[in-house]
Amino acid sequence: VSGAGQKLLTPEEIAVQAGGQVAFLRLPTIATVFAEREMRLRQLSAGHAMRDYLLFVAELCRAQQEVAGGLVGVAALPPEAIDAASRAGIAPFDVSTTDRDPAWRDTLRSLLRRLEPRLAAGPVRAQTTALLAAADAALDGQADRIVRGISLGLDVAAAPLVAAGLQVHLAAQVAATAAAHDGARLAPFGRTDDDRLCPCCGSRPVASVVRIGGDEGGYRYLACSLCSAQWHMVRIKCAHCRSTKGITYQSLDRGGGVTPAMEGQTASGRAVELECCGECGHYLKIVHMERDPEVEPVADDLATLTLDLLADEQGEVRHGTNPLLVFGDSEGEPGTRPDPGGP
Ligand SMILES: [Zn+2]
Ligand SMILES: [Zn+2]
Repeated sequence: VSGAGQKLLTPEEIAVQAGGQVAFLRLPTIATVFAEREMRLRQLSAGHAMRDYLLFVAELCRAQQEVAGGLVGVAALPPEAIDAASRAGIAPFDVSTTDRDPAWRDTLRSLLRRLEPRLAAGPVRAQTTALLAAADAALDGQADRIVRGISLGLDVAAAPLVAAGLQVHLAAQVAATAAAHDGARLAPFGRTDDDRLCPCCGSRPVASVVRIGGDEGGYRYLACSLCSAQWHMVRIKCAHCRSTKGITYQSLDRGGGVTPAMEGQTASGRAVELECCGECGHYLKIVHMERDPEVEPVADDLATLTLDLLADEQGEVRHGTNPLLVFGDSEGEPGTRPDPGGP
């Protein structure tokens, strides 16, 4: 532990300051992203208190991967739109300001059609059937609320289904645009003015991930809650207010006890921890591939609700957002936009 007020640079920060070659952005791998999430959810569901829910989301991810694999002719953004976004400093597919391609509804409906016959009779299946019959305007209204983090009028039971459709649509658009502009003078995706939001779609992260292997080993990326892109942010830094002071890590030990929080250090060795900020009182989960190579930010977030309860008991506010698990009217949830507060 460093002396009071003195902040030691991590090897990652030293490398970045020296102009290290860490890739800023990891684009979603559309051919595997949802299948990997499904696999992780099935793995985590064994003996889990939320087993049924995790298995439902696994089915949802399976349908997402099938639909993603069958999408053809996904429209890439034209160079003018990329240029305009770049000059405005925003994400090219910024979900809160950009008009959604109406094709997203076709993606959602083919997802629901695959999912429906696989669900046991019950409320979730009834919800899926009802959503299949919903009018375009109703679906758009729900999508608007999800991407803007508005809970008023949000159909909480339908939200994970609608969000799943948006996730496939956005990941496919991002992948198609990246492919169409491969080698172009202006890269379609890059840094935007707000490094706390996804550089591809402008959404908030679900969690962050410390990666392994290659040039990225030991580097921390924020994982987008919607399009599944990942973008680099140095470790030991609050993803909400950007403070680098007073960051502590906490997790639960195997007996369910709380590991002691230590400033700037992860003490537990657990694959999923809370990264808590003493400056603004927000937290984001961090998953460690070096401790478990199969961690997946969306799946591991869903399976560690007990960590959220721990944070809540301590009065900390969740910064991450996960549209596959939406609660009713409570503060800070659901949401995909940070409050305009931070420095
Ligand atoms: Zn995104
Ligand atoms: Zn903070």
